[in-house]
Amino acid sequence: MEFIDLKAQYERIKDDVRRRIDAVLEHGKFIMGPEVYELEERLADYVGVKHCITCASGTDALLLPLMAKNIGPGDIVFTTPFTFIATAEVIALLGATPLFVDIDPHTYNIDPKKLEEAIINVKNGIYPTTYYTEDMTPKAIIAVDLFGLPADYTAIEPIAKKHGLYLIEDAAQGFGGSIDGKKAGSFGDVAATSFFPAKPLGCYGDGGAIFTDDDGLADIIRSIRIHGKGTDKYDNVRVGINGRLDTLQAAVILAKMVIFDDEVEKRQQVASWYGETLRGTIKKPFVADGYRSAWAQYTVRTDNRAILVSKLKDVGIPTAIYYPKTLHLQTTFERYRYVAGSLPLGEEASMQVFSLPMHSYLTLDQAEGIAQAITD
Ligand SMILES: *Cc1c(COP(=O)(O)O)cnc(C)c1O
Repeated sequence: MEFIDLKAQYERIKDDVRRRIDAVLEHGKFIMGPEVYELEERLADYVGVKHCITCASGTDALLLPLMAKNIGPGDIVFTTPFTFIATAEVIALLGATPLFVDIDPHTYNIDPKKLEEAIINVKNGIYPTTYYTEDMTPKAIIAVDLFGLPADYTAIEPIAKKHGLYLIEDAAQGFGGSIDGKKAGSFGDVAATSFFPAKPLGCYGDGGAIFTDDDGLADIIRSIRIHGKGTDKYDNVRVGINGRLDTLQAAVILAKMVIFDDEVEKRQQVASWYGETLRGTIKKPFVADGYRSAWAQYTVRTDNRAILVSKLKDVGIPTAIYYPKTLHLQTTFERYRYVAGSLPLGEEASMQVFSLPMHSYLTLDQAEGIAQAITD
């Protein structure tokens, strides 16, 4: 059994993928070829925003919007400690300071009430650790759609507006999800997603995309993506990066877009099968009314994780732990002076959660078998 079955997906789309890759090999426009622009149009339409700017990875998709607002030394960016390292790494890379806000223990996403408290505290000179000083200015928020479930943007968007903060949606896992029909990738001032192979919409290498309705912001991000270019590539008006998406990867994603909605629907089905069969003390994922998860992961919770995971392994069921260590306790972030107990809800979740196999090609028998093994 596979944790995420990319082989079964490939069997389904093989002819289309090969035809599209062949077309790129024939026309030879490997950098910013026509497939890149076609994909950007398709993705913007899909999400329902004006601009999609593809880029080299989900990490660059977070970095570019921060660079576009000149976020750097002295700036505070509020974010969650329970996420992949990239979310906070880009903040640190620019010399800005992440300020970690604890999670809602039901959704595992940033808690909007705690977020507003943290913002008000900073404005009043009250800080989570001795690292933070009054020379630092709150500038932005990065909210994460963890495991595929959009963060609570209904609460977060007004908080960002009220306090004049730039809001970035990290939809690397959320792409394909929605709130009341509004798609992940459309929340905040700008959103980032990843096409890493194991994400809900993956390519065959690294890739990412940025979404926004803001024309000016989109122009700046397009420039930074290609070495800060101005009117042409040898006119450079700002410091940028080499952050383009390969044409070959764009061709692969175009083929996967054809089946994407069907795949999200099938993952929804697998989640329902798990939910209906799991019994006992295991805590199932919580999805509030109006929310749709992209089910990047199906994550359950127990205070007996080590035993359960090893017994599942014995019967051939693969599991994974996202994430065993919260970001505020990572060695690289020791400089921010958080300690064990600083963010208890995120820390407790990191010790209790694990994820079950989740992909569109799991059968009813397999899902019921996994859920039954856990229940037993
Ligand atoms: C995967 C991921 C990223 C980074 O994406 P890459 O394409 O691997 O650079 C960022 N944030 C979250 C929440 C992710 O899951």
